[in-house]
Amino acid sequence: MKLKHLLILPVLTAVGCQQVQRNSYDAYDEYPVPEGDWEEMVYAPEATKFALWAPTADEVSLKLYAEGQGGEPVRTLSMKEDDGGLWRATVEGDLNGQFYTFDVKVDGAWLGDTPGVWAKAVGVNGDRAAVIDLDDTDPQGWDKDVRPELKSFADIIIYEMHHRDFSIDSLSGIVHGGKFLALTEAGTRSARGQKTGIDHLKELGVTHVHILPSFDYSSVDETRLDVPQYNWGYDPKNYNVPEGSYATDPYDPEVRIREFKQMVMALHQAGIRVVMDVVYNHTAVTEGSNFERTVPGYFYRQNPEGGWANASGCGNETASEREMMRRYMVESVKYWVEEYHVDGFRFDLMGIHDLTTMRAIRKALDEIDPSIYVYGEGWAAGSPQWPADSLAMKNNIDRLAGVAAFSDEFRDSLRGPFGNDGLGAFLAGLEGHEAGIRFGLAGGVEHPQVNAGAAHKVPKFWALQPTQFISYVSCHDDMCLADRLKATMPDASPAVRTALHKLAETAVLTSQGVPFIFAGDEVMRDKSGVHNSYNSPDSINAIRWELKAKNREVFDYVCGLIDMRRHHPAFRLGDADRVRECLEFLPVKEANVVAFRLKGAPAGDTWQDITVILNARSRSTAIDLPEGTWQVVARDGRIDARRGLGTMPGGQVSVGPRSALILHR
Ligand code: CA
Repeated sequence: MKLKHLLILPVLTAVGCQQVQRNSYDAYDEYPVPEGDWEEMVYAPEATKFALWAPTADEVSLKLYAEGQGGEPVRTLSMKEDDGGLWRATVEGDLNGQFYTFDVKVDGAWLGDTPGVWAKAVGVNGDRAAVIDLDDTDPQGWDKDVRPELKSFADIIIYEMHHRDFSIDSLSGIVHGGKFLALTEAGTRSARGQKTGIDHLKELGVTHVHILPSFDYSSVDETRLDVPQYNWGYDPKNYNVPEGSYATDPYDPEVRIREFKQMVMALHQAGIRVVMDVVYNHTAVTEGSNFERTVPGYFYRQNPEGGWANASGCGNETASEREMMRRYMVESVKYWVEEYHVDGFRFDLMGIHDLTTMRAIRKALDEIDPSIYVYGEGWAAGSPQWPADSLAMKNNIDRLAGVAAFSDEFRDSLRGPFGNDGLGAFLAGLEGHEAGIRFGLAGGVEHPQVNAGAAHKVPKFWALQPTQFISYVSCHDDMCLADRLKATMPDASPAVRTALHKLAETAVLTSQGVPFIFAGDEVMRDKSGVHNSYNSPDSINAIRWELKAKNREVFDYVCGLIDMRRHHPAFRLGDADRVRECLEFLPVKEANVVAFRLKGAPAGDTWQDITVILNARSRSTAIDLPEGTWQVVARDGRIDARRGLGTMPGGQVSVGPRSALILHR
């Protein structure tokens, strides 16, 4: 393998009184690494200590600034090389409130200012790191913040949300639209009196809010927040600092940190856990990134030609298998848990990371709190430069205990394939997707009545446990559900699409996998048909809260499904053997119908025998039920798990078009 920036010419460097000849390294794994933990900046009122890992540097300078941008350094210091590739400097006096950068010289060339790879506080746009005392950023009551109880991963219901989508609508009644603080505002109402913001989340009943990238990313100019700017944020700049555009003041390094913590605390008080979307698989830029300005070449994989590997499709892919990148990822997630009380992580393009690293992350999180949930995209945008059998791809999830992956198979079996927005599947009335629906309802685990080979794109039963399987029909990527139904059934009436919307959510929320809802789908939000809305304006991406009143019946239906799932553990058995034991698919007479029974629910549940029938046909279908009196829970687009919708006798029963029938006895 040809490696860039590897051979370092022997240089004589003064370390104390000794003369040390610098090494040249033949491979990245020969780079010296620090033993144990260290921090790039440790503040104390008496003195601040700096330590940068830069094993290939000839020289490293530390620049101190009065401001987060502009102006010349107030001081420039030469750092001294120490063991393990670390360069150190200690600055006497109280530096609180100052900013700093490093500049690293490699092969005789200065690489340019960087806040380092481990900045924990930054100025505007994240170009300079800041010296602060993190204790000063704790909001009042932070020491009493606790994670809401979670007994099992099976109990999780995820709500995937972008800050700006969720609260920027002027009719949301939210003061801090598009900010972390939006999620701290209780009592907000839409213009038509519907609950919005955190009250909406409580009303919906989700257990986890998954926030789209909220670490410091590049694409939004934090100095121009007077003009609307939008980006999903999959363009990382500083992995260990909150994004400035979501703070009320991106210039003051403490504000973004404090407000992120306020958000977490408010959600915890509402009984909701917080999942961070993390994007360690690539950086926004390669040349000029903090990684490249510190240890050139090391943090990224190279292709056989010596160029940058690019399985992210974004210009580079990181090298988790290298010791210091692996340690970086492990320490970074631990930091978000310990400093910010984050409760879970969603790994973007997790298939780029190696299995050993993901196992190390799971282990490190288990040592803190095993209820922290980890899931990711079990794929990459291209072929990573690492052996396929050693990557955290979906096919290897059965070798990655305690980590879940998204099921694109269940998603596509419901709504249609990725890359062809106009093509539908089960929901659109196309035949042949029943096996994929059954695969998803069983949470991806091996089941005697599921033919994985017949299911769309299913390589195998890849989940060992149903809690390793994320069940969803839409997310921020691609069209949202309302748009997809419109695209695949352009002639369908609004009433038909509404019915199918409910049917889709029924499949997701009665799956043994972990259900995942894209924010706004519960009120039938749309994105004007835009598939990749990563930088579309608010007019495309914002949830228009007037929809909650307009589509209240859909919202109530989704609330009803969540309420049913939360109160009846048969829908979330959480164990593959229990799924095989309790979940039985029932014979059906026609295509586009899937029916199942859940028997022998956990003790204490009054629903010991449940039947769910999903009918995507445009006409009613008949199904044979065992004799007896069945309590109806959902029928013809209505649901009431608490009081029920009356009773019906067994024998042959009719299930209305494009609807679910849920019964128990
Ligand atoms: Ca930023």
